[in-house]
Amino acid sequence: MKVLVINSGSSSLKFELIDTANNKSLAKGICERIGIANPIFTYKNLLDGYKVEERPEPLENHKIAIDLVLHELTGEHGVLKSIDEVEAIGHRVVHGGEYFNDSVLVDDDVIEKLEEISELAPLHNPANVMGIKVMRELLPGKPNVTVFDTAFHQSMEKAVYTYPLPLEDYKELKVRKYGFHGTSHKYVSGVVAKLLGKEDSKIIVCHLGNGASISAVKNGKVVDTSMGLTPLAGIMMGTRCGDIDPAAVLYIMDKRGLTPKEIDTRMNKKSGFLGVFGKSSDFRDIQNGIKEGDERAKLAYDMFCYRIRSYIGSYIVAMGGVDAIAFTGGIGENAGLAREGICKGLEFLGIELDYEKNMERIPGDVEYSKPDSKVKVFKIETAEELMIAMDTYRLSK
Ligand code: ADP
Repeated sequence: MKVLVINSGSSSLKFELIDTANNKSLAKGICERIGIANPIFTYKNLLDGYKVEERPEPLENHKIAIDLVLHELTGEHGVLKSIDEVEAIGHRVVHGGEYFNDSVLVDDDVIEKLEEISELAPLHNPANVMGIKVMRELLPGKPNVTVFDTAFHQSMEKAVYTYPLPLEDYKELKVRKYGFHGTSHKYVSGVVAKLLGKEDSKIIVCHLGNGASISAVKNGKVVDTSMGLTPLAGIMMGTRCGDIDPAAVLYIMDKRGLTPKEIDTRMNKKSGFLGVFGKSSDFRDIQNGIKEGDERAKLAYDMFCYRIRSYIGSYIVAMGGVDAIAFTGGIGENAGLAREGICKGLEFLGIELDYEKNMERIPGDVEYSKPDSKVKVFKIETAEELMIAMDTYRLSK
């Protein structure tokens, strides 16, 4: 089945066409700056390697952007003869609230629920819903499936996901821990369980990209995860602060005279690597900074590793042990330095990284622990789009 995977953001739209018969990606790309001046359209035909970056006429809205995508997929450098070959559409949706613990086939009721949940993810969900509505309009009759970032984490127990706030904040406002990157955590923990050769496994997944989160997956179910009500919680990230004393937020607002929106921007866009290092949010720049002796780069790196180690320790306790630690995401997959800083000194827990091999860039899914390490350390290439396509196929075939 040819599935079009759509990841619709407020001003961007990523797409990928995947054939689930062989799990091959046929084409992919991104429309950026939708509704803003100077939009950029990037398209890659993965069958013949054709690649283009265009500056199209203003992409006024998502409908015009998706129209452009469909046009390209069937055009001169397209991979389809007719758009009818697209059999189903899979949508990445950030927040599924408490309604959805699995992917779901879209109907009017699902859209209504998604609109209700939008309050919990005002930056993401409305854009995701817009993508669904536009696809229903442009390809009427084709099944649409939503795949949620939060769904895999719905297995957490009440004592884990409840915040120690007045309980009515949960009951009336639905304020609780939800967790994100669920599609990646599910995919990676599934691959690791297969590599370990056992279903009853205790796995810690470190998804380390610009956004980053950790999860403890026991026997295929999430026990705990580091993100919370929003993707701001947990470990330190590219531009997000992660866990801090909540009273610090009020103190900074008061002292600097910031509005809620301003402090939100400060914590989401100006903190993390960018806030501490000062020059960039990109881990490659942190690595270069360390080489050049930049003290703030070293501090950011040490903080990042320390915070992840704290979560690993806590999750080993939560699961009563650990069989494997898996690294994924741009940093987890590519930065041996990050894996080293996180695993160093954890030999007493049975975690023995092969430090030399760890620095080698080996494609694919790789075991980086020593052969006799009690706890295995893996690098797994995440495949969120493929997961979305597979779920879409499962629910619409
Ligand atoms: P996103 O959350 O936006 O999907 P990615 O998973 O693409 O993010 O990860 C982006 C991060 O991965 C950046 O901090 C980037 O520096 C880091 N990264 C990408 N390639 C490398 C590399 N070769 N070495 C070290 N870090 C890398």
